[in-house]
Amino acid sequence: MTSVTFARNCEVLVHAETTTHMDIVREKAAELKRQDREDAFFLVDLGDVIKRYQNWQTQLPRAELFYAVKCNDDPAMLKLLDSLGSGFDCASKAEMEQILNMGVRPSRIAYSNPIKQNSYIRFASQVNVDLMAFDNQDELVKIQRAHPNARLVMRILPPTSGKVYHPFGEKFGCYLHEVTPLLTKARKLGLTVVGVSFHCGSGVAEGGAFRGAIAAAATAFQEGKALGFDFDLLDLGGGFPSDLATFEKVAGMANEALDEYFPASGKVRIIGEPGRYMAEAAFTATPCVIAKRQICTTLGGGDREKEGESRTSFAYYVNDGVFGSFSCVLVDNAHPGIKARLVGTPVDPTEYPSVVYGHTMDGQDRIINDVMLPELQIGDVINFINMGAYSTTGSTSFNGMPRPLMFYHCCASLWDQLSLETTN
Ligand SMILES: *Cc1c(COP(=O)(O)O)cnc(C)c1O
Repeated sequence: MTSVTFARNCEVLVHAETTTHMDIVREKAAELKRQDREDAFFLVDLGDVIKRYQNWQTQLPRAELFYAVKCNDDPAMLKLLDSLGSGFDCASKAEMEQILNMGVRPSRIAYSNPIKQNSYIRFASQVNVDLMAFDNQDELVKIQRAHPNARLVMRILPPTSGKVYHPFGEKFGCYLHEVTPLLTKARKLGLTVVGVSFHCGSGVAEGGAFRGAIAAAATAFQEGKALGFDFDLLDLGGGFPSDLATFEKVAGMANEALDEYFPASGKVRIIGEPGRYMAEAAFTATPCVIAKRQICTTLGGGDREKEGESRTSFAYYVNDGVFGSFSCVLVDNAHPGIKARLVGTPVDPTEYPSVVYGHTMDGQDRIINDVMLPELQIGDVINFINMGAYSTTGSTSFNGMPRPLMFYHCCASLWDQLSLETTN
């Protein structure tokens, strides 16, 4: 194994194919234990990000990838995506700055938040980020004042069809009946509208959602044409699931709908803005049990046979939580219980009802509500898989709690495919 420094200060462990993510989790946990440190840590498989980037190009060959920074802004992952040739979907001034500071050209940034404060629009204008979304008349007036040369993408509200893990509701996107009035307004203001975007909601489970949205976008293209606009951009938004089998099905249906409504001969440029698909699976979180409480309850009330019997359960307190990297519990409706794996073998395999709390002094800071676990000791660690989406980006320093350490790894066969500037 070798270690390389990447994206300023990120150490990447480059290893053989046979080494697994869990091997490295165990090794890092043991190393921290030897140093008598209890720090929570993340381990990031950069190889997974490379594979997913390549998989996207195979499965959705017509769509250029603009990674959605808000999903996870880890510097090593962003740098990696940059070197793979990805574009970036930014939600704010700070995200645009972060991406521009990596040396990314402004033409590879889409400012896809349809809701923007004036100073951010002015900033985009100053740094030549031209591609931006809108979905209402007042936004058009703001853009006309602050960035009249912007290339605008009209965000439509897709018809809901099919299962979505995290729907966006009606916060964004114009209804189809608003398309013509909006475009008429844009024309009056002398603005350039170049295409249409949508977002089906995060974690689309059925391709039908994309089919419906692509069909609606085609209708919007026609209305644009009737008004004299010549659209040449379709932005599929995000929403792609991280489960690879589901992704393949969803991508297949998106391709079919694209070929039907936007055949390649039409020369429409297509972009997609995946967040969850790229980031979720590559990250695991490994907090440490820093405190525990044994709870004995005496059973009673109703159940004659068990009356008077006592039941043992445990509450564990780990050094991360819902105000930290487990913010996905609050903002992404996540249930980390199904993602928990023990690191190491328990002394006694007997399982007890258990609750896992975070380390802040807030009653809401609970990671897992009710799970059967063998008895854990202080200093044991729990590894949570699929922790890369909407987790660290929602993290705060509430109660003065630090962010976890970040470790990175990548298998050599994938790492060697990259042409990177690294220092050994
Ligand atoms: C959040 C968001 C994305 C990414 O969504 P995922 O479901 O994580 O893929 C992409 N585009 C826009 C405009 C978004 O708001």
